[in-house]
Amino acid sequence: MKTKICLMLCALAVLLGNWSTAAVAESCCCCRSTLVNTASSVALSADETHDLLLMREEEKLARDVYAAMNEVYSQRIFVNIPRAEQHHMDAVLGLLNAHGLADPAKEKPGAFGNKELQKLYNQLVKRGIKSREEAFLVGAFVEELDIQDLIESMKRTSNKDILAVYENLLGGSKRHLNAFVRNYEAASGQTYKAQRMSQTDVNAILGR
Ligand code: MN
Ligand code: MN
Repeated sequence: MKTKICLMLCALAVLLGNWSTAAVAESCCCCRSTLVNTASSVALSADETHDLLLMREEEKLARDVYAAMNEVYSQRIFVNIPRAEQHHMDAVLGLLNAHGLADPAKEKPGAFGNKELQKLYNQLVKRGIKSREEAFLVGAFVEELDIQDLIESMKRTSNKDILAVYENLLGGSKRHLNAFVRNYEAASGQTYKAQRMSQTDVNAILGR
């Protein structure tokens, strides 16, 4: 009962605009969880929306390119990493749902609403089927792209829920970049050269 009254008062305070949802979440311990949820449905900026929609399809790009590579080479890395990319897609979908945004991702593998990503998918698969080494390079390319876009997206939001998801995706991408580089170097005997990021930034991720 006490909780119910407190919740009503807090909701009223938010409605009247006297308190920000953040302030209420801080001061009203009894309704913290409820109000934290309310805070997450606060309208997003155009940049935040754009970035979330892009990231949902960019994770799909990774998943679908690697799955296509697995069709050709049947390598464990192209089975395991797409599973992680599916989790990343799900995490972004959770955010889209929380903010009432329609999912841009198409059901069909290799099909994208975003024209740039569609073009990139077609190019990367074409390149990857040339050889196993090229397929590993394609994987590393996608991870570098993902890391760059995640870092840029993180600069454009202060939303804690979004940042937590991006942080998680970024950690995954760094691990994946390491894995693709290891596989490429083992298969080719060559040292990996950065494809999108600076060599210094790539080396930092590779611990070189
Ligand atoms: Mn990912
Ligand atoms: Mn990845």
